Amino acid sequence: VAIAVTRERRDGETRCAATPETVKKLIALGATVTVEAGTGSGSSIPDADYAAAGAVVKPDIRTVLAGADILLKVRGPTAQETSALKPGAVVVAMLDAYRDKETVTALAGAGVTAFAMEFVPRITRAQVMDALSSQANLAGYRAVIEAAYAFGKGFPMMMTAAGTVAPAKVFVMGAGVAGLQAVATARRLGAVVTATDVRPASKEQVESLGAKFVAVEDEEFKAAETAAGYAKPMSAEYQAKQAELTASHIVKQDIVITTALIPGRAAPRLVTAAHVASMKPGSVLIDLAIDNGGNVEGAKAGEVVTTANGAQIVGWTNMAGRIAADASALYARNLSAFIGLMVKDGALTVDLEDEILKAAAVTHGGAVVHEGVKG
Ligand code: NAD
Repeated sequence: VAIAVTRERRDGETRCAATPETVKKLIALGATVTVEAGTGSGSSIPDADYAAAGAVVKPDIRTVLAGADILLKVRGPTAQETSALKPGAVVVAMLDAYRDKETVTALAGAGVTAFAMEFVPRITRAQVMDALSSQANLAGYRAVIEAAYAFGKGFPMMMTAAGTVAPAKVFVMGAGVAGLQAVATARRLGAVVTATDVRPASKEQVESLGAKFVAVEDEEFKAAETAAGYAKPMSAEYQAKQAELTASHIVKQDIVITTALIPGRAAPRLVTAAHVASMKPGSVLIDLAIDNGGNVEGAKAGEVVTTANGAQIVGWTNMAGRIAADASALYARNLSAFIGLMVKDGALTVDLEDEILKAAAVTHGGAVVHEGVKG
């Protein structure tokens, strides 16, 4: 089995789909690995380290892809990459398949079997392949670091001879994987942390990290978690109550980190322009949901917006890409575990009856096979 890894070509993508460690793992499965030169540059991995791990490093993308049975990527392959693949080749990437129809259509047209890492089910057997979690965890950490950087004050309480510095107040909205890591990181830096979510299960998790849980806990809240563990879209009535609670709480906060997502939908609007306008000058909002439309009104993808009242809304896209070396290391491990489902003793077997492969398959045999993406 010939596995290819190419440089990421999408705007601002710093991560990569293999590390020297995972090259060794893939070779141990009986595969050969070819890496395009420069693949690891955004993650501080020199070409020589891939070669030392046993990969063949080639400078030209066409020769990397020629004859490849499997292509590993962080983001969906470009049209050029897809067209260079042979029919029946396997592509594994975070395809963003609900939104990036163009790439999905091209992959189907090329007769490629494409798997979306974002669709790997959150079952126990697949935990090691859970790229959404590995990246969200790092994004949650980095969001706090970005907030601390943009904030003109410190996070911890400091008692000095010149007087006391008050601790920062941090409010985390959406307490899933990213939000809980943001809570933990802000706590480690010494902030006073509160967090909110619509899933009752998150309350205990927030409290176990030493933060206070703040939410509208009505009947709808008690039923807001789907069987898969995700949040449901909330009713207009709930949203109105939530907005009122946010209004009274946010005015006292220094930092707001939003992470709320609903699978397959636009991110819910949790913070209005009026909420932002009520905040103190110097406040910082980090909108981690910006890639999905954002939770904060006025947030702009890739920009820091300074509002009339002196708050900053940080809309960095691809937050995990700002901690690229770790993000690549974890993602590459997710990928190599996923490849282990298909490659054994150097042979490639794609069993679409396997629960994990079936859930992640987006295109196969010239067609789109994922129900959610088709619809
Ligand atoms: P996510 O990225 O889809 O959403 C982030 C958070 O936003 C979630 O906690 C969600 O409840 C919250 N949210 C959505 N709408 C909201 C609203 N209107 N107001 C406030 N908050 C809102 O979620 P995630 O981080 O992927 O986690 C989803 C669930 O999956 C969690 O229960 C998590 O523990 C679980 N999970 C399980 C596994 C596993 O078992 N292998 C792995 C990872 C996550």
